[in-house]
Amino acid sequence: MEKCDIKSLTFDELSSEIEKQGEKAFRSSQVYQWLHQKLADSFDEMSNLPLSFRELLKQEYSFTSLKKADVRISRIDGTRKYLFALEDGNIIESVWMKYKHGNSVCISSQVGCRMGCRFCASTLDGLERNLTASEMLEQIYQIQKDTGERVSNVVVMGSGEPLDNYDNLIRFIRLITHEKGLHISQRNITVSTCGIVPGIYRLAEEGLTITLALSLHAPNDQVRKTLMPVANHYKLEDVLKACQAYFEKTGRRVTFEYSLVKGVNDNLDEAKALARLIKGHHGHVNLIPVNPIKEREYVQSDKKAIEIFRSYLERQGIAVTVRREMGRDINGACGQLRKSFMDERELS
Ligand code: SAH
Repeated sequence: MEKCDIKSLTFDELSSEIEKQGEKAFRSSQVYQWLHQKLADSFDEMSNLPLSFRELLKQEYSFTSLKKADVRISRIDGTRKYLFALEDGNIIESVWMKYKHGNSVCISSQVGCRMGCRFCASTLDGLERNLTASEMLEQIYQIQKDTGERVSNVVVMGSGEPLDNYDNLIRFIRLITHEKGLHISQRNITVSTCGIVPGIYRLAEEGLTITLALSLHAPNDQVRKTLMPVANHYKLEDVLKACQAYFEKTGRRVTFEYSLVKGVNDNLDEAKALARLIKGHHGHVNLIPVNPIKEREYVQSDKKAIEIFRSYLERQGIAVTVRREMGRDINGACGQLRKSFMDERELS
């Protein structure tokens, strides 16, 4: 039988497990602290636990720990892109970014992705598997240890569709925000989705105050379908209704992500349509100059087109920001680093 993954257990689950082993209650706090605050890499490090108890833990539970396979550090802005090896040999990528307001980590939620967005490198080889809660946590834990700096913000915007790995995502959020763990504020966590409508409604009911980001990328279903196969399943109208419900339930403004692709979704008529679409919605628009991937022909919009698009939205009273490109000297984000690593591995 497969052993239970101790790092994916919530504090309450861990407590009842440890009680079952006949140990005193304070041991649960100690173990939880080793796992989620002191960020131990093995049971052996848990020096204030009796040896016999450590041995028992080793026998009963598996211990998830990611291995750093590569890190690239940007000379421009200090951004770090990590590749981590999972126990089964799979590789995932995570990004560390330094901002004035704190350090942010962008994590992957799946190995690969099955959503098929046309401009995205994460989905080119489909979905390999879901990540466990502990594998999501470990990306942050290993990065915090590697940089020696506290992580204050988390964006679930790496490879994968978080709402396609729903239960593990929620477990991850409860663990990373727990007061006995890293205790990252829920408000500093953003989950980005391509727009899985039932998942958005479900998330709204979790009693969380995290930020929802919606990958919109087009002002109508017609254009959206050419970029995102998920648009064939859910109409924009329904996706936006779900976002509105998310706002009403949580009081959190939604972020609308819009990757600008030259000649596809970046002209003034599209800006006008976008303004009409989201007017009255409680959200703001984040424009992302598309990161070209070599497998596709998509090209970044010109600076001028981006500026016209941005200023039109602004004049309509819509809050809009243009995402600053981080670490542009160390390979684009969105699964490109992992993809190039995997391609090289296949060749060698
Ligand atoms: N599956 C989720 C989260 C992962 S992608 C989602 O779809 O939102 C995070 C964001 O990066 C999404 O908005 C996605 O559409 C965008 N993205 C992916 N590849 C990109 C690229 N090459 N250039 C710009 N944005 C990209």
